[in-house]
Amino acid sequence: SKEQGRNRWYFFEQSMQHRILLRQQLEAEMQTALQQQQFKVYFQPKVDGSGKLTGYEALLRWQHPERGMISPDEFIPIAEQSGFIIELGHWVLMRACQALQQLSDSSLVIAINVSKRQLQTDDFVESTLAAVLSSGVPASQLEFEITESMLMTDVEHTRDKLEKLHRQGISFAVDDFGTGYSSLAFLKNLPIQVLKIDRSFVRDFLVDQKDYAIVDTIISMAKALNLTVVAEGVETVEQFNMLSQMRCDLFQGYLFGRPAADFAAPTLLQATEN
Ligand code: C2E
Ligand code: CA
Ligand code: CA
Ligand code: CA
Repeated sequence: SKEQGRNRWYFFEQSMQHRILLRQQLEAEMQTALQQQQFKVYFQPKVDGSGKLTGYEALLRWQHPERGMISPDEFIPIAEQSGFIIELGHWVLMRACQALQQLSDSSLVIAINVSKRQLQTDDFVESTLAAVLSSGVPASQLEFEITESMLMTDVEHTRDKLEKLHRQGISFAVDDFGTGYSSLAFLKNLPIQVLKIDRSFVRDFLVDQKDYAIVDTIISMAKALNLTVVAEGVETVEQFNMLSQMRCDLFQGYLFGRPAADFAAPTLLQATEN
């Protein structure tokens, strides 16, 4: 009825206002939150086909004193919009460098997520290299995860920045690969070494033929282009076994470990028949 419609609109409007208010509050609180060490970097292991640890992905968390743990899906978009992600992202980079110092294992790589806004700043290359240099860790132990859409804007500048960083040893992974609307030409023209198959394809690829075809195609293409391919969101042994058979190189997901505040060793794979 018309009455119900009005009510629904009213609640919709209310919740919209609530969301806008929450956004504004979170945005206003971020700066102090960083000073008060409310942001944490969690680490999720990545393993190779034998289950051996190859490194970690650094994932941000906000331990809010009143609201509890806030997911990055909630606060990263706000930080991106306000520009605070530039400072926050740089802090994550420094934490990743510290982590590498602590781990002191030159075989491990730490991946961080770099947002578009960060990559677009004029001094991104300089400030990144300054932080890495002063930490003393080899740049080759760092990997930057970027998304396809970031490679589609400002192509010339982006290529220039990626090349400068790659010359110093930093590698680049395309995150959420296959979910963006992009041409594949960038794989030819940019210094990309890793493709990460998005979790949304991995979830059902054992039962969904289309997802299977997409996963298979991404792996084959990665092989043909001599890129390392990582599957994210691996939750079951069956998924791991099939992905291994399909020649996926690296694996990340709850099967091996959830993101954690410490450098947890990956869960050991049980010896499985097959
Ligand atoms: P992402 O880069 O695609 O990260 C993978 C997400 O999948 C993480 O969510 C991780 O916890 C989750 N995940 C990993 N394995 C599994 C699994 O087996 N099953 C399921 N269901 N989920 C799994 P998280 O930590 O909530 O991060 C969400 C997103 O927030 C990230 O997606 C990334 O886009 C963004 N993000 C996180 N940290 C940072 C950061 O430091 N900087 C930037 N710019 N973005 C970040
Ligand atoms: Ca990522
Ligand atoms: Ca991802
Ligand atoms: Ca994602």
